[in-house]
Order: sequence, then structure tokens, then C-alpha cells
Amino acid sequence: AKERDRTHVAVFDHQMQALASSRLETESQLGGALERDELRLVYQPIVDVHTERTIGFEALVRWQHPSRGLLAPAEFMSIAEETGMILAIGEWVLREALMQLQLWRMDVPGARDLFVAVNLSARQVQDPEFPAAVARTLAQTRAEPAALHLELTESMVMSRSDVAVQNVTALRELGVRVSLDDFGTGYSSLSYLHQIPAHTVKIDRSFVAAIGEDNASATSIIGAIVGLGRALELDVVGEGVETPQQVEELRRLGVRYAQGYLWSPPIAPAAAQEWIREKAV
Ligand code: C2E
Ligand code: CA
Ligand code: CA
Ligand code: CA
Repeated sequence: AKERDRTHVAVFDHQMQALASSRLETESQLGGALERDELRLVYQPIVDVHTERTIGFEALVRWQHPSRGLLAPAEFMSIAEETGMILAIGEWVLREALMQLQLWRMDVPGARDLFVAVNLSARQVQDPEFPAAVARTLAQTRAEPAALHLELTESMVMSRSDVAVQNVTALRELGVRVSLDDFGTGYSSLSYLHQIPAHTVKIDRSFVAAIGEDNASATSIIGAIVGLGRALELDVVGEGVETPQQVEELRRLGVRYAQGYLWSPPIAPAAAQEWIREKAV
């Protein structure tokens, strides 16, 4: 048994080392990804579940890695966050998404009400310079503040400094819209709602996924979020909708907006432009 244990430890050790070195490698490559223009944004439509019209898009970052192909955020964003590279990446994402929005709005008359939703990181939300940076980027791209939705999660703002709350207030004063992402999964969603005045809550996809799995509590929680949304005049978006049954249930519960593979996965800008021509006007 001792022999086997030692082998296990050796294998484990080897795997840990491989993991650590691939992490280091990813880290050093990510450092140059922006200059080499390897980051991409893909866009997922957000639809009105009554009219099926597309009202906006969520921008999601990808890394076109030189050898590993197109990487999802799970493969590099935690490294970006830990090293602080996320600040430069976040700035790029914001500018790119707003420039793209302006191109679409020019290209498709009638698509003028379209918005773009951009995900924030904890570091951005905690950065005292962030609202000023957003204001600058809005001015440079001539985008309307209300056409920018900034998505943040509970863990980015709760039990940290007041900077996050001040930042959200400053962003609201700019006219930017604030969305609470992954809503319902945090520890204290109610006090969070109270602390962060938002325009939109996005029901976490785990609740949507539980619809139809004979899960009465998921349905009750979604119903409660819709009730909160009504009382606080928040828009409610259901995330991760994959089946007609799920959207049917969301409609029944009073959820007005949704996104998910049922309509479309995140798509490249050119495909999104085609999508807008057909579904947003
Ligand atoms: P999120 O903000 O909750 O984004 C939704 C994720 O769910 C996306 O994964 C999207 O591709 C995926 N998704 C959409 N519809 C469905 C569906 O019907 N079923 C399922 N199973 N999944 C669906 P993605 O693109 O891999 O992004 C993962 C996370 O990475 C995002 O979660 C967000 O937290 C983060 N992220 C993405 N882009 C950015 C960015 O530009 N900046 C920052 N700070 N974070 C980002
Ligand atoms: Ca999001
Ligand atoms: Ca989410
Ligand atoms: Ca998330």
C-alpha cells in the first residue's frame, strides 16, 4: 500500500507541476494578447419573450490563442483577475463593445434602441478611477450612456469597501444601466439589492435549468424575483434558457426578457449584425 501511495503522490505532484507551468505559460502569453490583438468579443442576443424581438446583446470575451484555439473566459479570466491584467482587458472590452454597438446602430436604422451589456470584474468595480474611465469611453465612442448595461455580481460589491457602492452610484449618475448578474446565487441577495440600486436583475441560469426537473423551489424563487422586480421597478432577465418549456414557464411567471441557447449561443459580430437586421427592428 505504501508503494501505491508513493506512486499516487508522484502522479499528483506531476499533475500539479504541469498545471502550475501551464498556468505560468498562460499568464505570460496573456500578457501580450492585447498587443497581439488576440482577444475577441462574441455577442449573445437578449430577447423580449413576448415579442421575440432582440433588445440587446451581452458581450462575452474570448481569447484567440495562437496554438490552443478559441478559449472561453474560464480558461484565462481568473489569471487575468489575479495578475491585474483584467483592468487592461476590461478597458478593451468596454471600448470594443461600445464601438461595435455604434457600428450596428449605424448599419441598421431602427436598431437604435439596442443596448450592449458588458461584464465587469471585481477589480474594475473596486477601482476608484473606473467611473471616469467609463465616462471617457462613452464620450470617445459617442455611445449613449443608457445603451450601456454594466453587469456585476454580488461578490464584487458585498463585504468590501464602499468604493463599489460609490462607483455604482457614479455610473448611474452618468446614465449607465446597472445589471445584477447571476442573481439569487449569492449569500444575501436582499441586502445586496438594497445596497446596490440596479435597473435589471438577471436570474441565474441554475434556477432556469431547474425548471422542468420537478423542482418547485426553483419556480418559487423565480416567482419571488419577479415580485421583487415589480416592486422595485427592475427589469428581469432569465439566463441560460435552453428549452421551449423553460421559456414557457418564465412567461407564465412574468419574466419579460431572456437569453440562452434556445435563441442563440454567443455569436461573432458579423453574425450578430445579420441577426439584428432580421430580429431587432
Ligand atoms: P455570465 O456573465 O453569467 O455569462 C453567461 C455565460 O453562460 C456565458 O459563458 C454564455 O456563453 C453562457 N450561456 C449563454 N446561454 C447559455 C445557455 O443557454 N446554456 C448554458 N449552459 N450556458 C449559456 P461564457 O461566455 O463562457 O462566460 C462565462 C463567464 O465569464 C461569464 O458568465 C462572465 O462571468 C465571465 N465573462 C465573460 N466575458 C467577460 C468579460 O468581458 N469581462 C469579465 N470581467 N467577465 C467576463
Ligand atoms: Ca453576465
Ligand atoms: Ca450570469
Ligand atoms: Ca458570472
